[in-house]
Amino acid sequence: MLGLVSDVHANLEALEAMLGDIAGRNVKDILCLGDIIGYGPNPRETLKLAMKFFKFSLIGNHEEAIMLIAEDFNERARQAVEWTRSQLNERNLPKEERHGYWNYLDKLSKLEKVEKGRFLFVHGSPRVPTKEYIMPRDIHDATKMRSIFEQVNQIMFCGHSHVPGIFTEDLRYIHPSKLPDATFIYPKDQKVIINVGSVGQPRDLDHRACYITFDEEKVQFHRVKYDYQLTMKKIQNSGGLPQYLADRLRYGK
Ligand code: ZN
Repeated sequence: MLGLVSDVHANLEALEAMLGDIAGRNVKDILCLGDIIGYGPNPRETLKLAMKFFKFSLIGNHEEAIMLIAEDFNERARQAVEWTRSQLNERNLPKEERHGYWNYLDKLSKLEKVEKGRFLFVHGSPRVPTKEYIMPRDIHDATKMRSIFEQVNQIMFCGHSHVPGIFTEDLRYIHPSKLPDATFIYPKDQKVIINVGSVGQPRDLDHRACYITFDEEKVQFHRVKYDYQLTMKKIQNSGGLPQYLADRLRYGK
């Protein structure tokens, strides 16, 4: 069995809780679909844990923004990118530490899609890997979904929307809370897209950290409580991150 996470977003409390939870499961490796940083108050600490615990991480739009340019970000997201960059470039840090972060980001920036057997891993979608969202409402957009499914061999895992769930080829969306034991067995006759949700900034009105475990037969969603009020306080005291980013952690949206 493997663990799979996405959108940690520099939320140390959520990541630690998630790592604590998965440690009790029989998981060989943990993979990550990107957006380790951005929005949250602990980019350095989360990057350190990512280097230690994730077998690989793909590039997310926030890594892309910090490495290149945050051109299509809204003002609040751009503020977070600038603040995060300043944290990684903090002058008082040893040079090797700063280089360590940027080298790691540089390495993952070359990883847009990973294909392993019947599984495809991507941050957003196979059409525009770091940018395109696949949202629950897209089941009503058959043209879009068909075009995306064309690029899926059998099972695709993504993040980016921060909304966990299953998309089937016959255009159904299933939230994990609707699944028995939050477990989904892959159908034999259909392709599926699985959004793994977000560890550090869930947006399905459930503030708990979300991640999945999966094997060749099935996927299971997990939710983990963490001290989001501590994360909120850190955002408020960051001197650069907008208040809005703290508020949304409470509501999970
Ligand atoms: Zn994200």
